Amino acid sequence: MDSKRSILTTLAIAMAVIFLAMIINVTMNLRDFGFNSAKTKAQLVADSVKNGLTAHMVNGIMANRDFYIEQTKNLKHIDDIWIIRSNTVKKQYGDGQELIHDEIDQKVLETGVSVEQIDEQLLGHSTYRITIPYKAEITKEINCLSCHEAKEGDVLGVISMVMTMDDIKQMSVKIIALTSFISLFLILFIIWFVKRLIVPYLSIFDSIKDVMKRAHTGDYSARIDEFNSGEAKNVSHWINEHMSKLQKSLVTIEDKIDIFLTAHKSETVEDPMMDVQNTVARLADIYKFRKTIEHDESISDVYKRIATVLEDKFKLDDFNFLEADTTNKKVEVVYVHKALQCDPLAKGCRADRTNTLVDSCQFKKVCSANNEENTYLCIPYSISNDMDFVITINTQSREENEKLREKLPFIQDYVDAAKPEIVSKKLMQILEKNASTDPLTGLFNRKYLERYIDGSLYSGIYKNVPCGLMMVDIDFFKLINDNYGHDIGDIAIKTIANTLIDTTTDKDVVIRFGGEEFIVILNDCNEEKLHDTAEKIRIAFSQQKIQAGSEIFSKTISIGTALFPNKDHSFWKYIKQSDVALYQAKHSGRNKVVRYEEGME
Ligand code: GH3
Ligand code: MG
Ligand code: MG
Repeated sequence: MDSKRSILTTLAIAMAVIFLAMIINVTMNLRDFGFNSAKTKAQLVADSVKNGLTAHMVNGIMANRDFYIEQTKNLKHIDDIWIIRSNTVKKQYGDGQELIHDEIDQKVLETGVSVEQIDEQLLGHSTYRITIPYKAEITKEINCLSCHEAKEGDVLGVISMVMTMDDIKQMSVKIIALTSFISLFLILFIIWFVKRLIVPYLSIFDSIKDVMKRAHTGDYSARIDEFNSGEAKNVSHWINEHMSKLQKSLVTIEDKIDIFLTAHKSETVEDPMMDVQNTVARLADIYKFRKTIEHDESISDVYKRIATVLEDKFKLDDFNFLEADTTNKKVEVVYVHKALQCDPLAKGCRADRTNTLVDSCQFKKVCSANNEENTYLCIPYSISNDMDFVITINTQSREENEKLREKLPFIQDYVDAAKPEIVSKKLMQILEKNASTDPLTGLFNRKYLERYIDGSLYSGIYKNVPCGLMMVDIDFFKLINDNYGHDIGDIAIKTIANTLIDTTTDKDVVIRFGGEEFIVILNDCNEEKLHDTAEKIRIAFSQQKIQAGSEIFSKTISIGTALFPNKDHSFWKYIKQSDVALYQAKHSGRNKVVRYEEGME
């Protein structure tokens, strides 16, 4: 029920109660008044009859008393009247005609106490009966004891009267009707006046209540009824204007947020205001994330940040990141959070190939690279024209997969935020790689050596691990250029590069130092291994056949070696040592391996 109705109903009920109470009060008072006035009249008549009878007695005409009684009976409002002699009077003057009518007469005779009896009929004839005793008394005017043989106070007789109450009843009905009419009129006037005075306020209150109730559940489209006058007009206008602004702002924010977020509308939050609040919090988090990765140095730092977000925000603990080169169809594992459960390097990545989400729950053994019976989701993100980024997430159950799918739009926002940084840092990585890679052989170049090798040697992968160093140079290379041309010279360079790769392991580093000169760093090395590997390389190259048109020829190499770290810790010092050793090899006949020794210059 709205407030207007409930207040008016309460008011009407209160008024009805007041009205009823008033009518009951008036009725009761009128009834009391009626009986009291009847009693007073009866007392008067009783006294008058008594005096009349005394007068009859004094004048000696007691025998005519019936006429007198009959005349009295004819008085207005008196239905009946009779008198009764007490035993004392009977004894003195005989029984007479005054006989006892009923028990009340008898009782009053005996007790000397008046008795009243009311006979009320709602529609019929209503009467008031009173029976009053006459007692022997001595006053200035009269002395009952002069005629009666009785004591003062003895009951000499009783008078009973039945008086009609109909006239009083009629008058009461009239008064009650008039009072009711006036009261009803007043009540209706009060209700009308109150309604007129407070209804606009109650209506606006109800309207505000309705609008706010809907706003509370997220519906800001409701408006307050327009009022045309007074304060209500202003209030309704202001609130409606405010609601319109609010609704418009929310719609604008929602529209604009689409630009920044993948799925900003929450299905659980119905209130757009709360939705906006959550969205702004998400935007702030994503902004902080983007600002942070902007200042990260490398692409691997960005991947680590995404991993932290997955771990902290999305509570994931088993995932890996892959990078896919879409041009060269190559997949690389770029971040391992927990051991990989699939083999994308050998078997390719289905998510990348199909460019769609791979969900293990959609089809049994959906991805051939993952033969395990585990549950997982692999999500591909297109980063640039030639690069995809894939997040593989392993879960514990189908339910977890379902829940994870709901989180994907939120994860997507972070990947989208990271996209520009991934692209620019990937570009930097490629540029750096290109700058430190020799285009002819694909090997690292001297720049790489200059930039990275010192750090690797003393703080990174080679720290405190003895390494072997070789300086490799093709013997009489110039002759190849001279005899067969530059292209054949290039083939010879590629041949030695391949020989060096084939004869070393992944842990070793091969660098094209310049021209047809190469440096090989053998990881975890000793004198014997250094010598044997150098010899292996020398022999392997010497056995290579190089095609120059219809001609086939072979070449030899000379190798200078050094082992470090020894007492001198500077890497470039070892380069110098191996170069000195190479010089020795050249000048002592070529096609040989020479170990640097103290005093060699
Ligand atoms: P040595 O046995 O003393 O080493 O004699 P060498 O002829 O090999 O002499 P050197 O090492 O000084 O010769 C290097 C030559 O390699 C000089 C240069 O013209 C040639 N060269 C350098 N870079 C390239 C390249 O990329 N391709 C070709 N075809 N030749 C190159
Ligand atoms: Mg040479
Ligand atoms: Mg040379």
